[in-house]
Amino acid sequence: MVITNDIQSDEQLKCLDYNTVDFITMPFQKATVKNRIENAIHIKDSASFYEMERMLKELPSNIYLKDGDGRYIFATHYWHHLDHSSNPDWTIRGKTDIDIRKDKENAKMAMENDMEIIRSGKGTHYIIEINVDDIREYFEVFKEPVKDENGNITGIIGLLNNVTEHENLKLQLKNAAIIDGMTGLYNRKEIQFRIDKAIENHRKTGSVFSVIMLDIDNFKQVNDCYGHQKGDVVIITLSDILKNNQPFFNGKFSAGRWGGEEFMLLLHDTELSVAAYIAELIRQCFANTLFPDMRSQTISLGVTQVKPCDTSDSLCIRVDNGLYKAKKTGKNRVYII
Ligand code: GH3
Ligand code: MG
Ligand code: MG
Repeated sequence: MVITNDIQSDEQLKCLDYNTVDFITMPFQKATVKNRIENAIHIKDSASFYEMERMLKELPSNIYLKDGDGRYIFATHYWHHLDHSSNPDWTIRGKTDIDIRKDKENAKMAMENDMEIIRSGKGTHYIIEINVDDIREYFEVFKEPVKDENGNITGIIGLLNNVTEHENLKLQLKNAAIIDGMTGLYNRKEIQFRIDKAIENHRKTGSVFSVIMLDIDNFKQVNDCYGHQKGDVVIITLSDILKNNQPFFNGKFSAGRWGGEEFMLLLHDTELSVAAYIAELIRQCFANTLFPDMRSQTISLGVTQVKPCDTSDSLCIRVDNGLYKAKKTGKNRVYII
């Protein structure tokens, strides 16, 4: 801002060219000068707001500000899950999440969450999974209420970090701890854990479940005749049959590798007769599977339903006995116990 008694108009133009917000010349009037100084300070403050927004864009995080109605004042980055993010002329200003996001369900949740922050004055922190354009990403979200000098909530400030890499790594670690590397089924520890939980649940609610234990017949001969690698193919083929059955049971079916070529299936909400029927289907499916350069293979299966007095151990011992009986009575069969 320039206040001068020099009234040359070209000097005035030059100053304004250099971003001078105002140029006050004679005659001075106290009230007008005071007003124009206040205006200049206000303009300078607004300019620093945009300056701040420009600086924040340098950070990898998305920092955004919303007003009290959940409308964006600014967002430092536009990501692909916004409808118009690739259009350089498009602006987020004045729009809500529901207006602009492709993932409408998440948008609705975000807005409800915003309204809760404005109502309660309490910030929040969560990780959200976003699936848009066949890309799965995870974002860590921090939201805090923004207050004016009188303590009234006027909006929300938010910080978004893309934590996809970190979350995928966590998922991989979690999977590595519960999944058998060779077959992709649950490992013994996990299937045992699930049986323990099912027993606990049975005690609390009386809900019925069954287990199936199965083992490849004469598998030592497979290794001896065709080699260990072909043996692995047989194990993996059987595992795929078990895995491919899972979608038909709406999450009620867990399959785990119990040992070398021995497997345990847990069937929630499934009575013995249904479990026996499923066991027979699996037996037939495997027996009818053709292996290149190898004779067909068979499995034996034990099936049992949980009983009121069962512990995890008693149930596993009983189903193991069922499998033993299936082997003893000729193999390639289902034994109900
Ligand atoms: P049965 O009909 O009584 O079950 O006879 P079996 O020959 O199948 O006997 P058993 O189940 O005791 O044999 C299991 C064999 O499986 C022994 C072991 O060498 C082999 N095995 C265990 N894990 C693997 C594996 O990951 N790959 C291969 N190829 N073989 C395995
Ligand atoms: Mg065997
Ligand atoms: Mg075995």
